[in-house]
Amino acid sequence: MARDPKHDILFEPVRIGPKTLRNRFYAVPHCTGFGAEKPGSQARFRGMKAEGGWAAVCTEEALVSVDSDYWPVISVRVWDDDDRRNLALMCEDAHEHGALAGIELTHGGVHARARESRCPAVGPSQIASDYEPFVVPKAMEPDDVRRIRESWVEAARQSRDAGFDIVYVYGGHSYLPLQFLSPFYNRRTDAYGGSFENRARFWVETLEAVREAVGDECAIAVRLCVDALGPAGVELDEGLAFVRHADHLVDLWDVNVGSITEWSKDSGASRFYPEGYQLEWTGRVREATAKPIVGVGRLTNPDRMAEIVASGAWDLIGAARPSISDPFLPKKIEAGQYGEIRECIGCNVCISKAEWGNHLGCTQNATAGEEYRRGWHPERFEPAANADRDVLVVGAGPAGMECAIVLGKRGFRRVHLVDAAEDVGGSFRWVPRLPGIGEWARVVNWRRIQLERLRNVEVITRTHLDATAAREYGAEIVIVATGARWSADGLNAVTHDPVRGADASLPHVLTPEQIMLDGKRPPGNRVVLWDGEGYFTAAGIAELLALEGYDVTLATFYDRVAPVTDETLEGPMLRKRLHDVRVRPAVSFVATEVEPGVLRGHDEFEEPVELAADGVVLVSQRLSDDALYLELVADRVALEENGVEAVYRIGDCVAPRMPADAIFDGHRLAREIDSENPALPLPYVRERAVLASLEISSA
Ligand code: ADP
Ligand code: SF4
Repeated sequence: MARDPKHDILFEPVRIGPKTLRNRFYAVPHCTGFGAEKPGSQARFRGMKAEGGWAAVCTEEALVSVDSDYWPVISVRVWDDDDRRNLALMCEDAHEHGALAGIELTHGGVHARARESRCPAVGPSQIASDYEPFVVPKAMEPDDVRRIRESWVEAARQSRDAGFDIVYVYGGHSYLPLQFLSPFYNRRTDAYGGSFENRARFWVETLEAVREAVGDECAIAVRLCVDALGPAGVELDEGLAFVRHADHLVDLWDVNVGSITEWSKDSGASRFYPEGYQLEWTGRVREATAKPIVGVGRLTNPDRMAEIVASGAWDLIGAARPSISDPFLPKKIEAGQYGEIRECIGCNVCISKAEWGNHLGCTQNATAGEEYRRGWHPERFEPAANADRDVLVVGAGPAGMECAIVLGKRGFRRVHLVDAAEDVGGSFRWVPRLPGIGEWARVVNWRRIQLERLRNVEVITRTHLDATAAREYGAEIVIVATGARWSADGLNAVTHDPVRGADASLPHVLTPEQIMLDGKRPPGNRVVLWDGEGYFTAAGIAELLALEGYDVTLATFYDRVAPVTDETLEGPMLRKRLHDVRVRPAVSFVATEVEPGVLRGHDEFEEPVELAADGVVLVSQRLSDDALYLELVADRVALEENGVEAVYRIGDCVAPRMPADAIFDGHRLAREIDSENPALPLPYVRERAVLASLEISSA
């Protein structure tokens, strides 16, 4: 299929200072958890995007000096020759695939907690960090200003020598240059505080020095949150004023919104923000500059991208999440393979993994973060050594679908994906119907298209298989992906016991599946959800029932509602939404007994609490649906008699987990189905410091 000519505009080259971008697709800086600690992952992860057609690929924040140590958040560091050599790997990978490499040089200023280096944080003024209130910075003296500027210049030289084409003077998201620019941080009375020109001085002087040092060889980029949408930065008028003020020093404006504390507005979850939402602010930057502009907004639709470029608002389509979810997005658009695009669902699990788990992963793209350490390529699949076998996958939830796709791409003779339900999707038949997360349906939609295209994979629905049927199916390999169910008796993490009287066969006790799939509803108006998961399920059902007119209380033993959604940057806005639809929170509550009309329990001090409840929805924990697997493996003789060589299980049927991890599990098994023992993951390459010598000098 040929590309639609209206997308040709996306493939025009764009000049930025001394460099040329081959097209208009720009993979902006974003965290990975690789930083300076995992140079192999850093190189291959960014290199994969280069291979996928992005014109530029960038590092995450790259700290210019030791007093910007951000530990335990993992960042790039440009402190010495070893850092430079490691970063050169990324540049080589990018260049090999025709992309420019960018480095987001920065300093965290007042937010740099320096838990490794033990340096004091520094900032324009001595006001505690709004991000890390325990951190109180030293107010920078003229020597500090000079020193950090020189560190920036030195880091820029090291970056150039490493092979970087684009060097940032990054101040967005409330980092040091923006701290100087923002009166929220800057209360100085010297030449670096007060008037707009004075507050801009640190950034401008740093830009001048960096430009002077490397500007002939590297493009100079500034990343700026043009509107903080909160106090920790500047509002749009000063954002645009800065663009005008520093324009002569900048080759590329990389613009977005939000701040360090309002990052949720930059990396907006699909729950709250539609595709292209940042244009409301960053679409105004053209008023202030004729230089190239790159903006973001979770863009995956090529029509929209082409419209934005044609409108003149931006020159480049920036992407972090869409480039994680599909590193080959530009090449797929270029080739007109629109149906192949694996669209980001805006769940922000990549952020939760990179920030808190410290190794990036993605719901949609199981290979993200595995390019180096497992050698996985998102678009290439080795033929399997045992591809002459027939495979039966029981369960077409996200894990089963992913597994069947990868097996199909690895050339198996026949793969049958069988599900008892009337359609594929498993738990994702109902999850995207929870309020606000309709885009999550892309998990199933993309996989459905892939399955349709694979001639060697057949999908069979409305077919429940018991152990005899699975054994006798005729497949040599059986993979059980039967998922998990919400506990029907309130088993939970705190008491390790069911809730007395809880039984979802009773009219006043309900599970999420009963509500979402069977249409069961509480017998009266007052409903209490008891949440032990802390992620999206209870919050989603609470909102749904509230919108249906129920009087809803969301009770949880956590000290706040849905704490796991804080890791995906959804928490504060999600709680606000629940508040707006009048869902009452009952936190630090442990449920112990349910009776018609009441849910009893206690608070954190063991004081008894009673919540009026005509119905109680148990969201306490899930349990694997593993009966089929256990029955199959219990009878090895029967398996042999039926020619079944191996039985494996994947996804929630092994242990209930985040969709990203269930999908990963299905992918992993299929990638390693011809290994010695596919049930266990092959070891992956670990990146760690290995001492050259075990002699530790006491000198
Ligand atoms: P995961 O997240 O691991 O993919 P899900 O719970 O989303 O798991 O999906 C599991 C799927 O397995 C559901 O669609 C369910 O209908 C299907 N399933 C469970 N047991 C059987 C069975 N014995 N035969 C056929 N399909 C089954
Ligand atoms: Fe998009 Fe979710 Fe993947 Fe992040 S984890 S890139 S938000 S699909």
